[in-house]
Amino acid sequence: MTWSFILFSLLIISLLVVASMVLCAKIYLEVTCRISEKDRIALTFDDGPHPKYTPELLDVLAKHNAKATFFVVGKNAKKHPEIIRRMIEEGHSVGNHSYSHQWQWGFWSEDKVYRELRGTRELLNEIHSQSYPLFRPPFGISNPNIAKVVKRMELAVVGWSLRTFDTSRKPKKVQQQLLKKLKGGDIVLMHDRLENTPQVIDIVLTHFSKSGLKFVNLEAPKSDTKLD
Ligand SMILES: [Zn+2]
Repeated sequence: MTWSFILFSLLIISLLVVASMVLCAKIYLEVTCRISEKDRIALTFDDGPHPKYTPELLDVLAKHNAKATFFVVGKNAKKHPEIIRRMIEEGHSVGNHSYSHQWQWGFWSEDKVYRELRGTRELLNEIHSQSYPLFRPPFGISNPNIAKVVKRMELAVVGWSLRTFDTSRKPKKVQQQLLKKLKGGDIVLMHDRLENTPQVIDIVLTHFSKSGLKFVNLEAPKSDTKLD
């Protein structure tokens, strides 16, 4: 084996790794990363529901008459079905974010990915019967196996145009970034399992209350999505 072959192989592997992590490059999947209406913003919250912070966030959203989209983890939804029902009753959208949200997600077989996504959809349907076509892959990771399941289940994949890095940045920084950078058409990625999310969102919604921007939930493209 020559050095050039090793270098070439490393380059290909690096490209594949990058391709699987950059969701909005749309290499394996059709992904929605913005909304077309320039007077609207879609706030999205991943990894919940959290027993304390998600209800607090729902209170904040109700106070400002804002809607949002929650990409929930199946095992958390199972523990707090009442929060899922509240999200839907208050006009928010609920999407699939896998059942167990494990770091091995990107290495799973098609069958394992299917069981995770289908398990979450069945559980959500038991909690509140409706179609759940919206999906955001854990860690934003996609690959050919995940793409096959997305097609099989007719899921609509949602990415983001503004990533807040709220799981690693200080809340003050997240807030500053949102006040400075948020604009119409954005899909914002945040997490409702974090203590400071409700307060940050309260400040942001107060700041934009007279801007004419509307905070909306995402809706899947109309289709005759059948349960698989
Ligand atoms: Zn997540």
